[in-house]
Amino acid sequence: MIRGSWEDEQRNLTLPKIDWRWVDAVVLTHVHLDHCGRLAMLFRHGFEGHVYCTPATAEILPRLAKSSARLQRTKLAEFHAGVKTELPEDAEEPPVLFSEREAQLLAERLRPIPYGLTEQLTEDVMLRFEPAGHIVGAGVVHLECGTGTESARVVFSGDVGSKHVPPMAAPVSPRAADILVLESTNGGRVRPKDADPDAHLAELAAEAFAKNRRVLFPTFAIGRAQNFLYRFAKLSRANKLHVPVLFDAPTAIFATGVYRRYSEQYRPELARQAQAGDDPLDFDELHYISKRREMKEIKRSREPAFVMAGSGFCDGGPVMEHLRHGLPNPDYTVVLGGFTAPDTLSRALANGEREVSVEGTKIQVEAQIVALEGMSGHADGGTIVDWVHGIQDAPSIIMLNHGEDEARSALAKRLEAVRDWQVLRTAGEERVEL
Ligand SMILES: [Zn+2]
Repeated sequence: MIRGSWEDEQRNLTLPKIDWRWVDAVVLTHVHLDHCGRLAMLFRHGFEGHVYCTPATAEILPRLAKSSARLQRTKLAEFHAGVKTELPEDAEEPPVLFSEREAQLLAERLRPIPYGLTEQLTEDVMLRFEPAGHIVGAGVVHLECGTGTESARVVFSGDVGSKHVPPMAAPVSPRAADILVLESTNGGRVRPKDADPDAHLAELAAEAFAKNRRVLFPTFAIGRAQNFLYRFAKLSRANKLHVPVLFDAPTAIFATGVYRRYSEQYRPELARQAQAGDDPLDFDELHYISKRREMKEIKRSREPAFVMAGSGFCDGGPVMEHLRHGLPNPDYTVVLGGFTAPDTLSRALANGEREVSVEGTKIQVEAQIVALEGMSGHADGGTIVDWVHGIQDAPSIIMLNHGEDEARSALAKRLEAVRDWQVLRTAGEERVEL
């Protein structure tokens, strides 16, 4: 699914030109919306196969798809009721990509395959997932295609995790690949060496406590939220947190439950800690906000606090109410971590704009806006090259995907400098014959 401006999001209506009736299976690497947000659309285009993913992904995806279908229906109803929105004046009605019934169909067609087990997809294609780090349930896809001399091992990286996003374990290189399809999101970037989000968060907590400030963290539900919880828990154990953490993100709270059930995917010391009954994502100062009444009390209260609320791009969800209240208020700090999508409120805030539009209403920004470095859940260019270099039985062809042109070219150059790989800078919807 494409996120961003109205024009960009209109592209979601058009699926790749494939006759979906003839597609046997779809393999999903992980449950981030840019990877799975349009899957339920396939059923209105004739797809009758199954969607293969890991068990953790299969626990989260049905909830995401159903709430996405509900949100699309609500946006359409609001448009027809003349509710003020962010849409351009001349916009046609907002698209409904799939219905709640199609979201339900997606839930029924999921086939969870645990890491390391091999599943026969078709007569001559075998599938296996290996851990990708990144987020709970994220899998590197291994396909064995064909037989004998006409066979190839195709590895599809999905998003490769960073070494710096606990509780998830760091990514491990595949053992073998003939063809590697590789993500390049952060291909041009190097994580700043001095990035120390823990120290920065400790400063924010001390400042909030001393100066009675509210610190708002617009939070992505899967990955970022749990990374924040882990870091806050660490501050709490070191007696550096001092302020309550209010967690106002229903999807993130649900996903955190899935993290807890799959704690064997954490880095080893944290997996052991979880198994010993000491949850690395829990701490005394954590409060879950489950009712809007509690939210009203929070707004009235003048106590210092950290507030985590979805969504990370500030384009919907509980964070909007916090932003409406907090942005015009000099006692608020809004913390942005990592990537902000173009044409979203998070990008406008990151760019330092002092007048922004929050769900159609202009607001003067008096709050302090802070960027938190070192929070990306994607491997940086160096880590990706190391990950590829670690493949013992190395690929002869590498195809780069999932990255802007600049990032893709930068990663291609880095890879070509290491070894004589054939690196293809494939573009969206480009077909490659294997
Ligand atoms: Zn992802």
